[in-house]
Amino acid sequence: MGSDCLFCRIVAGEIPATVVRETETTLAFRDIDPKAPVHVLVIPKEHYADVATLAQGDPALAADVLATSAAVAEDEGLLGDGFRLMFNTGVYGGQEVFHVHAHLLGGAPLGPMLARNLA
Ligand code: AMP
Repeated sequence: MGSDCLFCRIVAGEIPATVVRETETTLAFRDIDPKAPVHVLVIPKEHYADVATLAQGDPALAADVLATSAAVAEDEGLLGDGFRLMFNTGVYGGQEVFHVHAHLLGGAPLGPMLARNLA
């Protein structure tokens, strides 16, 4: 993807980010506009638009994203009280950056899964 993608540019080091963990295939960095005391984004370095494309295209890489998310959760002290791991996907999911990212949220009670019950 490259220059048009914000998170590809973070991977390339062209845009600064507060990186908390890096592996051969993944990068984890703090969200610029945190919604919880801990808010880290975990991405594959390779560009996939969303979690469905990633899971279908490279399941092993999807597993790497989960493993890095769990490692960051441990580093941030979230394993005891728990956390939320979330992939906003597409228009209904409210996705704004189309390079797949897991939101790792924690450090306080996060409340209901959705602000409103849409069922
Ligand atoms: P989403 O709505 O799921 O696509 O989430 C995109 C997330 O990226 C939001 O939580 C933003 O605050 C975050 N974000 C946007 N730009 C940056 C950046 N340069 N560094 C870190 N996080 C960012």
